[in-house]
Amino acid sequence: MGAKVWAHRRRARPLDEYAIIERFFARPGRRRRDVVVGIGDDAAVTRLPAGLDLVIATDSLFEGTHFTADAPARSVGHRSLAVNLSDLAAMGAEPLWATLALSMPQADAAWLSEFSRGLFALAREFDVALIGGDTVRGPTGTTVTVHGAVRPGQFLMRSGARPGDGIYVTGHPGDAVGGRLLLERTRFARRGGAGLIRRFLYPVPRVREGQALVGLASAMIDVSDGLHDDAGKLMAASGCGAELDAGALPLSPALRQLFGEEALALALTGGEDYELLFTLPAARESHLRKVIARWGCAVTRLGRVTRHAGVHWELDGKLLTVPDRTFRHF
Ligand code: ADP
Ligand code: MG
Repeated sequence: MGAKVWAHRRRARPLDEYAIIERFFARPGRRRRDVVVGIGDDAAVTRLPAGLDLVIATDSLFEGTHFTADAPARSVGHRSLAVNLSDLAAMGAEPLWATLALSMPQADAAWLSEFSRGLFALAREFDVALIGGDTVRGPTGTTVTVHGAVRPGQFLMRSGARPGDGIYVTGHPGDAVGGRLLLERTRFARRGGAGLIRRFLYPVPRVREGQALVGLASAMIDVSDGLHDDAGKLMAASGCGAELDAGALPLSPALRQLFGEEALALALTGGEDYELLFTLPAARESHLRKVIARWGCAVTRLGRVTRHAGVHWELDGKLLTVPDRTFRHF
């Protein structure tokens, strides 16, 4: 296959599938030693250390559904991997390898260059090797599959929460949707909005935090659809409910300043934060405090797990009606 790629390059043909792969994705760079065969053959071969469990996640991003046509290509590259790493984070897994299925209506070298920059910058940060993929003509979109590892049975599921556990969230939910709205409403020139926009375009998957919570947390999920919806999924999987204090929500100063009254609803319903929402038995709270002291992100206790189904938010002692999400994929 390699020979074919170079033949195309020498004749400087327009970018075909092979040229795209060679130029933008088959980067030499630092190689993981556990990649036996990477990009370039019919399939990749990797070596998982004996005894580890393999953890696999797949997520797609398509133009029109997950990003707009004018979204920076670097952000699309970053997010296509970030959303997947966030799923591994929510299981407490260490990321290892990724594959990328990429589809576009035509080969745009400038777009591809920025896309791959965004993707590889994040891959390097978490030492993830791109080991294969597919490149096809079609609507602009990506499907990334990530592979990670955990020690046998050492992962977290959504189903482990028990009544009495505390419920915690990392970071500042609502910032990402705030950033998206600033872009949509073109108010982004306003002072203080850059941080929110960065949170939307370049979300940071909480990979190391997720791994640190294994053996500590009882259940975990990453917040992709909005805090309220994802809390509902976490509790439903655990057969429990939750009583949460909306007053405890860690609204960022920028979100408060730019969105005022709207900030609370954004934190509850805005998606794409890629923060971790987890539960923890009360007896482990002091251990958690020690662990999070070393983290670069905030961790906030929002409330507790209850026996009765349903997620209820209170604000100043009154029950809060959570507004419907404005955006759903289906
Ligand atoms: P095949 O026709 O056997 O599927 P391809 O020509 O599509 O092989 O791909 C050649 C090699 O390039 C394979 O190793 C494949 O995994 C890899 N590849 C294709 N597209 C991408 C991509 N977008 N990113 C990373 N690797 C890719
Ligand atoms: Mg192929």
